[in-house]
Amino acid sequence: MRLRTTDLRVIRGVLDFANVEVTHAGQVEELCEGTAPADSLARPFLILEGSDWHAYKKNDQPEARSWLDAIIAGELKAVLPVIQKRFNDTVTARWRMTVSMGQPNFDFDYTVQGIQGWYSLAIGLLIDPERDLIHRIGKCHLEDCGKYFFDDREKAGVKNKGRRKTKFCSPEHANVDKVRRFRAKHSKKHK
Ligand SMILES: [Zn+2]
Repeated sequence: MRLRTTDLRVIRGVLDFANVEVTHAGQVEELCEGTAPADSLARPFLILEGSDWHAYKKNDQPEARSWLDAIIAGELKAVLPVIQKRFNDTVTARWRMTVSMGQPNFDFDYTVQGIQGWYSLAIGLLIDPERDLIHRIGKCHLEDCGKYFFDDREKAGVKNKGRRKTKFCSPEHANVDKVRRFRAKHSKKHK
């Protein structure tokens, strides 16, 4: 199944959400509104108003992170029932037909409810076996980084069998790690 630009946008938005230090509600809601599928009920947010932003930090972000951690650790099975419930409660899809140059085209749109629907959709896209994306999600191994990332070294839709998994969020961090290791090794040798 091809990875649509809109799907990729949701995945990236949710990874940003998992990576940020949450300091106010608007920050999370902006990320969600900016990347959720069109027509989503990203607003009004179901639970949170004004000072309740800490729920994003205390409930939603830890849940999204725990799912990502489970995926990265190869322990998806343990969190599947929770993801399934959340997903089915907050994500819907509908078929749409468009006509272009006299030809019918069919595609489907997702609708998500609030923040939970937004990150449930991203995780759903990532774990769908048909899409083959699960091995492209990672957490940077550089000690002081630890960011979640989506490996986009390949073009969307291209199968990925046997490719070495990257451990770093960026080529820069892979490089920093390499240099650190080299220095560590070097300093040991000369002690
Ligand atoms: Zn990094």
